[in-house]
Amino acid sequence: MIPANRLPAQPVRWQQLWRESVTDPRELLALLGLAERAGELLPAADTGFALRVPRGFVARMRHGDADDPLLRQVLPQAAELGEVPGFTRDAVGDLAARSANGVLHKYEGRALLVATGSCAVHCRYCFRRHFPYADDTAAANRWSEAVGHLRADRSIGEVILSGGDPLSLSTGKLAELGDALATIPHVRRLRIHTRLPIVLPERVDTDFHRWLAALPLQRVVVLHANHPAEIDAGVDAACARLRDAGATLLNQAVLLRGVNDDVDVLAGLSERSFAAGVLPYYLHQLDRVAGAAHFEVPDARAQALVDALRRRLPGYLVPRLVREVAGEPSKTPL
Ligand SMILES: *Cc1c(COP(=O)(O)O)cnc(C)c1O
Ligand code: SF4
Repeated sequence: MIPANRLPAQPVRWQQLWRESVTDPRELLALLGLAERAGELLPAADTGFALRVPRGFVARMRHGDADDPLLRQVLPQAAELGEVPGFTRDAVGDLAARSANGVLHKYEGRALLVATGSCAVHCRYCFRRHFPYADDTAAANRWSEAVGHLRADRSIGEVILSGGDPLSLSTGKLAELGDALATIPHVRRLRIHTRLPIVLPERVDTDFHRWLAALPLQRVVVLHANHPAEIDAGVDAACARLRDAGATLLNQAVLLRGVNDDVDVLAGLSERSFAAGVLPYYLHQLDRVAGAAHFEVPDARAQALVDALRRRLPGYLVPRLVREVAGEPSKTPL
């Protein structure tokens, strides 16, 4: 028998699936039967933010539909290249709010850790598409500086792992961080902001489940789905595992023109999320980040949509419509 420590490392399935993601826009269009429309659909110049989408997410897109709401979230578009007044590179003031390597401490009682700059999917509207991750993630520093900051500030009862997508880190890396956080007496809760259980539900594997379930902190997982078609049986299974590991599940969505600026779609998202055991949390007005102006929905329209949702759904299925305003002490309700 070969000793266990000499066996080749098993490739972790979700990491393998991640590596197999689609990164070529022409391949994505070909997979959807849209190859002959590449000239019309793709931007003529580099947008500076590469395409990335797992194949399992592509499989949820409608074949032959260039306006598919999932495709629209990931396909680079010519509209990203135009400069629009008011849309800037650091729309939410992250650069000013940083207090230690990887820590954003803007709100009372909770601090956000930029755990990594990587994501399994590149969302075209993302407010962090211009964030200078390379030098500023907590992981780059093996957590010590970030954890030191959290330990020194006894007002911090909740640590939020964000990014990028914190679940793009290996479970081993997350365990290092979890172990460190568990030694801080005033930290009671760990919150994880992640889109991975939606776009690559295989990420919630047995190793991850075991880590989360054993964590000696209260656990909240805030998912990010924008359209009911993003949630399929694989996502249901991932959510069931997260709940089994003791996590409270919430969803934050971004209001996006041409994706979910429609009362039937938003109601469908709340209903479908709840069927997966997930409560709606925030509906974000778009951060005014350069390259995303074509996704913006006017405030009056956003409010009308949420008013219509309130008439149609039980109160607990109506998300809070908010915007992030640089310098404010919380998200700002509209
Ligand atoms: C959004 C955000 C939070 C979390 O805010 P909640 O209202 O508690 O969800 C915390 N810190 C920062 C820096 C944020 O941007
Ligand atoms: S997963 Fe989140 S952080 Fe990553 S690109 Fe999408 S919106 Fe941005």
